[in-house]
Amino acid sequence: MSSPTHKPLVYIISAPSGSGKSTLVNELLKSVSDLEFSISYTTRPPRGSETNGRQYYFVARPEFEKMIRDDQFLEYAQVFEKDYYGTARRFLREAEQNGRDLLLDIDVQGAAQIQQKLPDATSIFILPPNRKTLEERLRKRSEDSDEVIQRRLMAARREIENYDRYNYILINDHLEDSIEILQAIVRSERLLRTGRPLSSDESKIVNLADCCRLANVGERLKPILDSFRRPDPPGGI
Ligand code: 5GP
Repeated sequence: MSSPTHKPLVYIISAPSGSGKSTLVNELLKSVSDLEFSISYTTRPPRGSETNGRQYYFVARPEFEKMIRDDQFLEYAQVFEKDYYGTARRFLREAEQNGRDLLLDIDVQGAAQIQQKLPDATSIFILPPNRKTLEERLRKRSEDSDEVIQRRLMAARREIENYDRYNYILINDHLEDSIEILQAIVRSERLLRTGRPLSSDESKIVNLADCCRLANVGERLKPILDSFRRPDPPGGI
């Protein structure tokens, strides 16, 4: 993988918060070689045990705005109409130099920007099995106030409507299965990129990933989308 001409494969993962994305991303990074996580910059304060330079680079707003002016971001967005989040260009350069692929955990606005700039990027949207499960996961996490949870649920409803801009849809119902599928998607894209004939084991990986291609998820999606489209009960969620 480490040739000076390595063109990194870029994987975009988006999901409403509470979909179990962080767990999946961490498991993926542990189990797949040569895949680098792009640590985003954000103006939001650290939550719980988050530390600077691990989950995010936590910066003040003026610093983030200076980075925008200096054109240091491949993409950036204001998420939940509040804090800035952005992917620094240098992560792509570093992945190229190190012969590695790059994983971006970004929102739908950022994904749209990357898809414009890097049309070959592979995009994966992670969905919770339904709205109730998402709400339960957000409450269990107990990192956010009620107001923030409500905002996240509303944002989830909006974000989910963008599912059809992604190459793959992963419904995160059973963690172990989801990890296996996510690994298969990454491996499948690598295998397909080689252009060589595949062994039967390799074909199995590609077939597993194919089950989650947008064109193949069809009916499995409908009840999930419906659960988010239903109006909130009177008096709030
Ligand atoms: P959280 O505050 O829960 O860590 O993240 C909120 C949202 O911001 C998530 O949907 C996450 O994917 C998104 N996000 C994280 N980093 C970036 C980034 O660099 N760019 C964009 N556009 N979104 C990001």
